[in-house]
Amino acid sequence: MHLFSILIFLLASAEGVFGGSRFWEAKAPNKRTNPRPDYSAIETINATSSLSKRAFSIESRPGQAELPRIWPKKTIRYCFENSQGHDKLEGLFRSAIELWAQLNRHGFKYEEVSDAECKSEDKRDSVLHIHYNDYGRFSTTLGIPVVDAQEIADNPTTAVRGPTMHLSDKEGVGQENTPANIAHELGHAWGLAHEHQNPYYWEQSSITGPSWSVPMTGKKYFETDDFNCGNLEDHYKIHKSVQVLIDTEVDLRKRDILQGEYNNLCVLRGVASKYGFSAADWLPISNTANMVIDAQFDPDSIMLYPSQAGGGDNGANRRVIMKYKKDSMPDQIIPIRHRPSNMDVDRIVALYGDPAPSTLEVPHNSGSSEFHNRLKDARSSGEFSRAGDTKDGTCG
Ligand SMILES: [Zn+2]
Repeated sequence: MHLFSILIFLLASAEGVFGGSRFWEAKAPNKRTNPRPDYSAIETINATSSLSKRAFSIESRPGQAELPRIWPKKTIRYCFENSQGHDKLEGLFRSAIELWAQLNRHGFKYEEVSDAECKSEDKRDSVLHIHYNDYGRFSTTLGIPVVDAQEIADNPTTAVRGPTMHLSDKEGVGQENTPANIAHELGHAWGLAHEHQNPYYWEQSSITGPSWSVPMTGKKYFETDDFNCGNLEDHYKIHKSVQVLIDTEVDLRKRDILQGEYNNLCVLRGVASKYGFSAADWLPISNTANMVIDAQFDPDSIMLYPSQAGGGDNGANRRVIMKYKKDSMPDQIIPIRHRPSNMDVDRIVALYGDPAPSTLEVPHNSGSSEFHNRLKDARSSGEFSRAGDTKDGTCG
C-alpha cells in the first residue's frame, strides 16, 4: 500500500505533453504534473462553461502562462523543418487540412511562415515546426504548449521548445490513410486529446489485480480486461529493458520501485510514458485537470484510435489492441475512420469561439441558481463537462 502511493507520485509526474508515443505516435517527454489523479474538481465549473459542450480537449484559460494555449486568431502558423520534409509532406498536409474544411467558415486558418521566421529562436514558441520521418512516427504538442526554461536546461535534447509535429508518410499505420493520420495530428495541434483516453469511459474489470486509475462514474465504453497490451509492437522490448534495470539495481528500495513500475507498464499511463511505451497512447489519462471533458462519447471522432492502432504496421492485418466493452456498441471492433466527425469540428469551434474565463471567476457552486441545479443534475447523472484546476493539463 505504502509502495503503491509512492508509485502513484512517481508515475503521475511522468505524463507528457505530446499526443502520441513510439510507433503510431511518438514518445512523450517527461513533464511535471499534478502528483495524483484528479477527477473530481467539478466544483470549479463556472457559469460560462457549457454543460452541453462536446469535447475532450485542452481548455482555454487566457492569461495563464503555465497552461497550454489556443492559437491566436484561430490561425496555426507553421513551417517545415527542412526541404525534404516540405517536399514529402506538403501535399499530404494540404489534404489533411481539406479534411477539416468545415472549420474554414468559422475563420480557422493555416499560415506558412518564412524561412527566416522558421529559424528564429525568438519566434520558436509560437510557430508549429513540422518534422518528417519515414518510419511511422506521429506526434504533436497539444495547442501551443508551455515552454519551460528549467525543463530545457535539464533536458536540452527532449524538452519542448514550442509547438512541434512529427509526421510520416508510412502506410498501414494509424487510420491506414496518411491524410487521415495527419488530420488526427492537426486535431492535437488545435487542442484535442484522444477520445479513448478519457478515463470516465473506462471501467476496471475486476477488483483483484492491479489498481487502475479510472473513476467509478460515467458511461463505460472500455473495459480494462479488453486492453491487449501484450499485442503492442514495443511490448516485449520495453518490458525487457525495464527488467534489465531491475536486475542491475543494487539498492533494494529502488529495485522495489522499479518492480512496481514494471508491474504497471500496461496499467498506468504515467509509467508507460516514463519508459516511452506506446501503451501511453491507449491508457486512460490520470489527470483531467485543465481539460474539457466530453458530455457524450463520439464513436466517429478522428481522435479515437481504431482497434489495431499500435499492433504493427501492416494495415488490416495488425494485431487487435483494444475493443469496445461488450454490449456498449453494436460492434466491438473500433473501425478506422478517414475524416474528422461533426463533433470533432464542434469541439474546436467551441474551444476557440467560446473561451472559458480565467479561474479568478467565482465558482457557481454555492447558490440555488438555475446553473446550480444543472450542476446537480450533471453530478447525479455522472456527466461532467470539465474537471480540475491544477497546473499542466496534459494528454497523450
Ligand atoms: Zn494522437
